[in-house]
Amino acid sequence: LFISYFHLVMEVIGSRRRSSLSFAENSVSTFPLYREAPELEVRLEDFELYAVDRLRVLKGISDGLSRGKKPNEMEDLVKQLWKANMKHPDETQVVNKDIISHFVLRLVYCRDEELRRWFLSMEASLFRYRFLLETPDVQRSLLLEFDLPYKAVSNAEYESLKDKLNQVIRSTGQSISSVDSIYYKVPFEQVPDLVGNRRVFILKGLAYVAMNQVVSLLVTEYRSNLSKALVLTNRKWIAMIKEQEKDRLTPIVEALSTSYLGPDYNQPNDHTELSLVDIDKVAKRSFPLCMRHLFDKLRDDHHLKHGGRLQLNLFLKGAGLKLDDALEFWKSEFSKKVGAERFDKEYAYAIRHGYGKEGKRTDYTPYSCQKIICSTPGVGEHHGCPYRQFGEENLRVALCSMGVGNRALEEVIGKVRNRHYQLACTLTFEAIHGASCDEGINHPNQYYSDSKKISESR
Ligand code: SF4
Repeated sequence: LFISYFHLVMEVIGSRRRSSLSFAENSVSTFPLYREAPELEVRLEDFELYAVDRLRVLKGISDGLSRGKKPNEMEDLVKQLWKANMKHPDETQVVNKDIISHFVLRLVYCRDEELRRWFLSMEASLFRYRFLLETPDVQRSLLLEFDLPYKAVSNAEYESLKDKLNQVIRSTGQSISSVDSIYYKVPFEQVPDLVGNRRVFILKGLAYVAMNQVVSLLVTEYRSNLSKALVLTNRKWIAMIKEQEKDRLTPIVEALSTSYLGPDYNQPNDHTELSLVDIDKVAKRSFPLCMRHLFDKLRDDHHLKHGGRLQLNLFLKGAGLKLDDALEFWKSEFSKKVGAERFDKEYAYAIRHGYGKEGKRTDYTPYSCQKIICSTPGVGEHHGCPYRQFGEENLRVALCSMGVGNRALEEVIGKVRNRHYQLACTLTFEAIHGASCDEGINHPNQYYSDSKKISESR
């Protein structure tokens, strides 16, 4: 059980103690199936760093899939992501890193249905492409490890169905000679992707799965085991770990699910500076929809509630608006509604606070997409991500006014319906700027800075 992983077996230790037991020494495969938590100790900072590295892989897969990459492109992508993020300076620790990061992310992503769904689907995809990248020998030994209860088709049956089986192979564009003549009979509902893509012959409720399609079976099995484990982990999390670890692991775990993995945009860069003279023009041209919506609401209503003020103020700071200009900007609007005196008394403090000039003098970081998308604005509030918060009609109107053409608009709406909000924003960016944004939009200040770069180069 996962609890034993943390409390009886795996001891998360402070930075002065080193890992004392190498799991890799006991490990027979470099492709773990994560059936049991490892018996090892891990330093607290590795606990987080390994998880962040694996998250980069999973987020890369998520982007690739939602961009509609083909299976062979996904294979290349997973290979690159894995190589870039999951290496370790000590070769013997590579498998440990793989295992630890997986189990840490189980804790992070077990905590609600939406998180579980995302993690399950990304880990299942990761498993699929890693399996396909393995040699046939490793693939066969993994197949044995799964110990699947399916029967191989006998020679006599294979001969009697050969024509039909070959017909399916041809219809999928493969050559007959490239497919092994070993088939397994499997209840059709256990290979939904093969059935859905018409890549398998079905007879009396049984799908005839060729050896080279076996990965679908393994993915189904892997996914089902992981799904059960996540539910179990969640129970343990709620019942014990969350409270017991409230000062140590809980804050790390809770922050990881909304963690943003790019630059923090706290300081303006070369492509970000913003002055009051052209702020309206720049907002129209280079603000992402979330900030443009707040900006327009502020101009129209001369007021924004707390959540909106925070989100926009930090964005403007990261976009290069100086504190004095920020105060002038907010005051010019709020004064029209509440009067200059009340602005000075009640609102100016929070603006200065966001710039680190009041209170603890922390220099607050502008919010990432992940954080904004997770926020839930109430009635009369305008923060959050419009791709998530707006109804479809309002979103269409907003996108048209940003200059998104009909075809791109339908694509954006399609992504929103599938809840790929950042990808919808990326497609909007690409449609407006006529330039691709391969890394995807992860931060409103990235959108702004990339947009400025493009306009400056033209
Ligand atoms: Fe803003 Fe990010 Fe949503 Fe785009 S995806 S509108 S940048 S929060």
